[in-house]
Amino acid sequence: MRRHERGLFALALAVILLTGCRIKGPGQIGQVSLAKAEKTEFMMDTLITITAYGPKAEEAVNAAMAEMRRIADLMDANDPKSEVSRINENAGRRPVRVSEETFELLKLARRYSELSGGAFDVTVRPLVVLWGIGKKDKYVPDSAAIERARELVDWRDLVLDEEAKTAYLRRAGMGVDLGGAAKGYAADRARDVLLRYGVRSALIDAGGNIWAVGRRPDGRPWRIGIKNPRPEHGGELLAVMPSEDLTLVTSGDYERYFIKNGVRYHHIFDPRTGRPASQAISATIIGKNSAEADILSTAVFVLGPDQGLALIRKLSSFEAVLVTPEEQIVATGNLEDELEIVREEGGTGDTGR
Ligand code: AMP
Ligand code: MG
Repeated sequence: MRRHERGLFALALAVILLTGCRIKGPGQIGQVSLAKAEKTEFMMDTLITITAYGPKAEEAVNAAMAEMRRIADLMDANDPKSEVSRINENAGRRPVRVSEETFELLKLARRYSELSGGAFDVTVRPLVVLWGIGKKDKYVPDSAAIERARELVDWRDLVLDEEAKTAYLRRAGMGVDLGGAAKGYAADRARDVLLRYGVRSALIDAGGNIWAVGRRPDGRPWRIGIKNPRPEHGGELLAVMPSEDLTLVTSGDYERYFIKNGVRYHHIFDPRTGRPASQAISATIIGKNSAEADILSTAVFVLGPDQGLALIRKLSSFEAVLVTPEEQIVATGNLEDELEIVREEGGTGDTGR
């Protein structure tokens, strides 16, 4: 997809996600009428929309959006001026000093690379570049090239020096990629900004990363839709999660992909095979920290239902909903009472375990 087409696609997504959440005119909390502000910008390869209610909603939204832009500038591997790009340029050459924030997110991403047994791997960059999903047109690399790139992916070769605040990739050709983590981190920081401005009711929608801040202006919980990864089989929405102060992050094989000879090639790679992961078609993580939920959505997508949900149960502060390649819905047990399954037909509609 071209850039603007991707933008439109993301906008369509955003509209679906917010269905049922929008109200007309000013919001109400009790008898107090609240001003509404909303802003949409394109960054980190996606459309970001922030909607907030409150006396300083306009200022808050502007400041939160600027905060997200600042983080994108530090961490976007596709931006040659970012800190992440400087680390990658110096792979196999020298450690690079980075900001405290980039350092901390790299540390978190590295820790989850280890915890997920390398299903999430913060050094996945060579595979991202080789496949070029969304950039190179229907391009399937040959096995030798996949093998070469795969050998360059190993989080153990990312050396983080706590004292010096440097990051170093041991081998030339390696690269870090925070594409599976930075949107969530940016959403967390944007939420902090909104709260500092006194906003108590807001939605941050960063292309599959949602922060439902507080409740809706009418005092009811936000209703966040989880997209059906195969809308042709049973409608646009899979489920709705009533949400108060919750983040929902989804990784799906429908976000960026192409189909060639009947095979869907998408942007989430299994570092063990060097190819698009095939154990899930969508994975949603629900919790209170969007950076971690973002990392985990990618990890659980790669790990698939058994290992993925086992990882989430072990962590205890997150819940997960996953759709298998057979279009079955499986979820961690604590969600059973809350999640409203709305998919109309197809699959089993079973929330499993
Ligand atoms: P998400 O949509 O959050 O799952 O993130 C997908 C993005 O994460 C991709 O566009 C890549 O930049 C990056 N990515 C893909 N596969 C992996 C992986 N196995 N581990 C870590 N990051 C990945
Ligand atoms: Mg992710």
